Amino acid sequence: MLVGCIADDFTGATDLANTLTRCGMRTMQIIGEPTGLPPDTDAIVIALKSRTIPAHEAVAQSLAACRWLKQHGARQIYFKYCSTFDSTDKGNIGPVADALLDELGSDFTIACPAFPETGRTIYMGHLFVGQVLLSDSSMRHHPLTPMHDSNLVNVLARQTPHKTGLVAHDVVKQGAKAIASAFADLQSRGIRHAIVDAIEDTDLLHIGEAVAKLALVTGGSGAAIGLPENFRKRGLLPKRRKPKPLAPVGGGGVVLSGSSSAATLVQVAAMKAKYPARAIDVVELSVNKDKLVAEIVAWALSKLQSCPVLIYASALPDKVSEIQLRFGREQAGAMIENAIAAIAKGLAQAGVRRFVVAGGETSGAVVSALGIKGLEIGAQISPGVPATLSYGEPRYALALKSGNFGGTDFFAEALEALK
Ligand code: ADP
Repeated sequence: MLVGCIADDFTGATDLANTLTRCGMRTMQIIGEPTGLPPDTDAIVIALKSRTIPAHEAVAQSLAACRWLKQHGARQIYFKYCSTFDSTDKGNIGPVADALLDELGSDFTIACPAFPETGRTIYMGHLFVGQVLLSDSSMRHHPLTPMHDSNLVNVLARQTPHKTGLVAHDVVKQGAKAIASAFADLQSRGIRHAIVDAIEDTDLLHIGEAVAKLALVTGGSGAAIGLPENFRKRGLLPKRRKPKPLAPVGGGGVVLSGSSSAATLVQVAAMKAKYPARAIDVVELSVNKDKLVAEIVAWALSKLQSCPVLIYASALPDKVSEIQLRFGREQAGAMIENAIAAIAKGLAQAGVRRFVVAGGETSGAVVSALGIKGLEIGAQISPGVPATLSYGEPRYALALKSGNFGGTDFFAEALEALK
């Protein structure tokens, strides 16, 4: 293993695994705490669900993952978080990065959530989402990690007792040598975390080269694109072509959507226009979950002989607010996640093996319900979302999509990609 990665959520882990695979690394994703020996891979991404749990728990889980990765030969550790730097003043990016630095006996790392392919860029330490600052984007309304400050140097400074600094774009664009000397300068001034500007992939490649000797790199999935080349130069990573195709699992395909993000709502509308679709009635769900789940499973099975189906809880913001007011935000979320997980389990017991899941938390619930411990990563379906195949028996073909990823026809494209 060359790179050992710790991701703070499931779809983020898949996103990073996708990036590394596309850059020629054989990559495996492990769900939750790893056990046993890792297979022969270049990179392992351990998917935690640690983004919004208490900081001390995120630290403990991340340290356990780091120790396992180091014990099994990882030469560099990568801590992956969201490209919109999802966090609060309590953490968890700062506390986890500090703990990992201590564990690795190091005192400097970078923080670079840029992902230009999906419109996340950093300039003068400020994070942009498309054409607007992070604090003007829909992330300001995020239920768990509302982002009101776009200046990442300041955001991170509130999460760590150590000094934070910036490597600005005028340095980044000069290339790896200039960036590495900026790192040395920051370190000499006692700075432990450097936000690094990046507005295009060339910047990320320069940054990748400059971090070759760092024990810990932190960022979104974009900042990983420069890492494989460091290992190739050292003769540790052969040139590989595309990932080998995933083994087919066959049978009907089901789309499960528990995301109400803007991109998902468009995708749900497009899928509904083509294929049978069933909305999960949250009020009915609250009255008799088991009956509703059984009904939906039977409905899906009756259609799957001839075409794929969509099952969704996704709703417009005012409908979501109404449900949250009635049942409580977290309770409503958990109730829907549990129902979608139970539907997935019911369908799996009836032999369904192909699932497209929309929503980070929803994907976590489904993958756990199916008892999946690891994923093999295949070709990219859309930026940030690869086709995957579960390890163990039975094998499932899965596409796990974070809410705001994918174009209008993502669901149909994903079903096509999952053989
Ligand atoms: P995303 O990746 O878009 O953030 P997630 O699955 O991570 O999607 O989170 C969406 C959350 O919203 C889940 O907890 C889900 O159960 C909840 N949810 C989905 N549909 C509704 C709805 N109609 N009303 C209230 N909550 C909902």
